[in-house]
Amino acid sequence: MPDLPHALRESARRGRWTPRRLARLAAALPKVETHLHLDGALSPRTVRRLAEATPGSPLAGLSVEEIRRRVVVDQPRASLAAVLDAFQAFYPLLRAAPAVELAAYELLRDCARQNILHAEVRFAPALQRTGDFTLEDVLDAALRGLARGAADFGVSSGVIICLLRPFAVVDRQANEDMAALAVRFAGRGVVGLDVADAGPGDQRLSDYAGWLGRGRRAGLGLTAHAGESPRGGEIEDALEIGVDRIGHGIILRERPDLLQELIRRGTVVEVNPTSNLRTGAVSSYREHPVRAWRDAGLTATLSTDDPGVFGIDLSHEYEALSREAKFTAEELLELAWNGIWALFLPEARRRALAGRFERGAAAALD
Ligand SMILES: [Zn+2]
Repeated sequence: MPDLPHALRESARRGRWTPRRLARLAAALPKVETHLHLDGALSPRTVRRLAEATPGSPLAGLSVEEIRRRVVVDQPRASLAAVLDAFQAFYPLLRAAPAVELAAYELLRDCARQNILHAEVRFAPALQRTGDFTLEDVLDAALRGLARGAADFGVSSGVIICLLRPFAVVDRQANEDMAALAVRFAGRGVVGLDVADAGPGDQRLSDYAGWLGRGRRAGLGLTAHAGESPRGGEIEDALEIGVDRIGHGIILRERPDLLQELIRRGTVVEVNPTSNLRTGAVSSYREHPVRAWRDAGLTATLSTDDPGVFGIDLSHEYEALSREAKFTAEELLELAWNGIWALFLPEARRRALAGRFERGAAAALD
């Protein structure tokens, strides 16, 4: 990964950075999303539109404010499982083509407002399919919404398909079908494969190695939710599989040996601070290990995970790290820069985004 351009680094070091000026930089800085779930990204406004269009939805007829109160997880919950519960309100809204297309389209509109240049959008079509709405229909609808969003809002994107665990919640066949779909659409909108949690229960990441390997051979980037909660062996499994990126990785704070291995390999960690707070994985932004990881030389990117569920946006995450974890202007730039070079995109496209980042960051530093 190339270094942050020297001129930007110098410019970020100059002048006095008050909290207010850092907050303005967080908003104005060109950014990318590397870890963003479509179903977790629905704003209350989008939820309202989807609920009105979904026969029998318990959310139909509610105001945006009522929906916000009902669906946004704005306080820490006891566990990851308790946060996953919050998603149950969303899946029924995403089981028709117009709904999925609208959700994807409005997501890019929300991204544009935060100066996001490119968003990698992830979801698991198996959670949305019905008898006559197939996995491929789900993906097609999302790709249509993303294409329209790119044209209207200037935000490019790529899809990461989430395989799901445990098999007790989403069975092997569904995972097999999603992996095959991702491979079929490699280079045609799908850029990567992930393994995410659909509910409580243990399932080794190594059980997904075969599907991830197929994805790799088809040219897809690989990432996996690992070490988000204290479940043993996940980072080891992810390293064994050879993923490019790891989502969360919180348990690395107790495993300096694994942290060093990630640094040695250049494996990227997708950091989602507010998500980690709300699932109870960390107790405050200040306690978040991203500060220590960055200082140790790990390549971290910053993302929102589920901005709709948590009632946040990406600018908020940058601002929170500057305010609470004392990230400097220069370090905020580094996070955004890392994100661009971690994207599952051909080198030429990353380079083009880096060029846009340089121009936008220079203006934001002024
Ligand atoms: Zn996630």
